[in-house]
Amino acid sequence: MEFESVIGLEVHAELLTKTKIYCGCTTEFGGKANTHVCPICLGLPGSLPQLNKQVVELGIKAGLALNCEITKVGRMDRKNYFYPDCPKNYQITQDELPLCRNGYIDIELESGEIKRIGIERIHIEEDAGKLLHTKRGTLVDFNRAGVPLIEVVSKPDIRTSEEATLYLTKLKSILSSCKVSDCKMEEGSLRCDANISIREKGTEPFGIRSEIKNMNSFKAVEKALHYEFERQVKAVTAGEKLTVETRRWDETNNETTVMRSKEEANDYRYFPEGDLVTLNISDEWIENVRKTIPELPHEKEARFIKEYELPKYDAHVLTLTDSMAEFFDEAAKLSKDPKAASNWIMGDLSRLMNVEGTWVEDLKFAPNGIAELIEVIKDGTISSAIGKQVLEAMFESGKLPKAIIEEKGLKQNNDEGAILEIVNKVLDENPQVIEQYKSGKTRILGFAVGQVMKATKGQANPGIVNQLVEQEVAKR
Ligand SMILES: [Zn+2]
Repeated sequence: MEFESVIGLEVHAELLTKTKIYCGCTTEFGGKANTHVCPICLGLPGSLPQLNKQVVELGIKAGLALNCEITKVGRMDRKNYFYPDCPKNYQITQDELPLCRNGYIDIELESGEIKRIGIERIHIEEDAGKLLHTKRGTLVDFNRAGVPLIEVVSKPDIRTSEEATLYLTKLKSILSSCKVSDCKMEEGSLRCDANISIREKGTEPFGIRSEIKNMNSFKAVEKALHYEFERQVKAVTAGEKLTVETRRWDETNNETTVMRSKEEANDYRYFPEGDLVTLNISDEWIENVRKTIPELPHEKEARFIKEYELPKYDAHVLTLTDSMAEFFDEAAKLSKDPKAASNWIMGDLSRLMNVEGTWVEDLKFAPNGIAELIEVIKDGTISSAIGKQVLEAMFESGKLPKAIIEEKGLKQNNDEGAILEIVNKVLDENPQVIEQYKSGKTRILGFAVGQVMKATKGQANPGIVNQLVEQEVAKR
């Protein structure tokens, strides 16, 4: 029997607002424990929440960027549960009337096929505080309580752990380029839970699902889903009966373990939040938010392929971050040679940044530096080999190519007479070149060219060197 996974993902993303969702406390990450708090986010008796308008705005923005319908008359609800990090003993969230519904993300599978993953809903809600388990016992920090979140719930359209990673990567790139969330997984501003069940391939009904929590990276999601698929297949094949469970991903032992089973499941007793008014969202507001959505990474990728005729691979790599995409975009426009700009940026420049552990944001020169580099190579001022040296110097000092070439005397030598002299000197000193060439080993010419380039510190025009070496060897 062949099985497949049925996976749905729930992603929580902290929104990039300055203040919390129902009070004016700061949302800044960190800070001394329990200093970003007030009676409202501590849930003190008599305090009243007020909905932060920017939270709704960012929620709408996320919805539009993810192709959702916006719910025009919405509502906030209470989700009742007791847990020490939830000071009110309920969370104000959205139940039946989420802000956004019926969206989708298109992912590109390895085969090149485009697959559409549905988005069931996006709702806005508040984050909980944080528990700190110490030797002295468990402490609670409410700085995070009330930080605004969106929860993006996918439809169960995902079939493999690889598809899950593709979906998450795309979701993250859309949310961060829209500035809805900074999506920093290491700071917990992007978190993912997964529902997974298995079924025999070709059948419709879903199996018994388990929910996996505590996955702190995309890699962890992929590994946990893979593990859980294998576990369920093994159990079903062995004739065991699965139960609905919440399981935790254990990073150290690379396995999922049971947190709770269905018998212990909560009944949240949702009901409308009486302290907040109905959400009325006008068409005008939605249209105004739509105008603030920038060109999204996958739209940029498509434009780079169409407008700049870049290979798909280049376009993809260059749009992985907004800063990289913008840098390339400008270098391509200024140089009028997008492929050359792409080669320099993806090749030597990326290598230099990797070695130093820096980002495009840290570069000491602007995209016009790349354009100028392309220009001086094209007009023959320097060879592309020298171009690499120039780029290194640009990376170090932030100076522009022409200034560096002048300063270091790197101008290409196009003087045929002078190069001819060196060619003959090299041939005189290396009689084996002629011998081998005459015995049919024509590859030896490469060696001679290399020697001439070395003698000129790489500054001789390689085209001229090639031509003169061939010419002189033929004469001898
Ligand atoms: Zn507060």
